[in-house]
Amino acid sequence: MRCPFCGNEETQVKDSRPAEEGAAIRRRRFCAQCSNRFTTFERTQLRDLTIVKTDGRRVLFDREKLSRSIRIAMRKRPFDEDRIERIVNDIQRRLESETEAEIPSRRVGEIVMDKLREVDQVAYVRFASVYQNFSEARDFQSFLGKLDKR
Ligand SMILES: [Zn+2]
Repeated sequence: MRCPFCGNEETQVKDSRPAEEGAAIRRRRFCAQCSNRFTTFERTQLRDLTIVKTDGRRVLFDREKLSRSIRIAMRKRPFDEDRIERIVNDIQRRLESETEAEIPSRRVGEIVMDKLREVDQVAYVRFASVYQNFSEARDFQSFLGKLDKR
């Protein structure tokens, strides 16, 4: 695994342990060239997923990208690293269990919103407001109105 700090191709595994309730292996790595440490995760991937964008372009599912957008929505919320990783895992599993091999990006958004709504209202509203790209304040009001009825 290449060092993200200096690009050295040879890094050493210092520690390896189960994480996320056994769903992943967490490895602490050390770079002898720049002395930095970093963490990698090994996870199962059931199958390759293709996401179909709204403009029709097809891209491979990118877990890192999903993880980033969820971290933005959950910023400063009371969830530790392991909990957030489990949420991302759960979303990935739901995507992998979709019947179609090609998943519209709109569907990905819905699955993320369903999951966030279960775990944290604030993260849900943050994600939804970015994702649905509310063009008018009125849209956002009616969206919040739907929340209140739950
Ligand atoms: Zn390095």
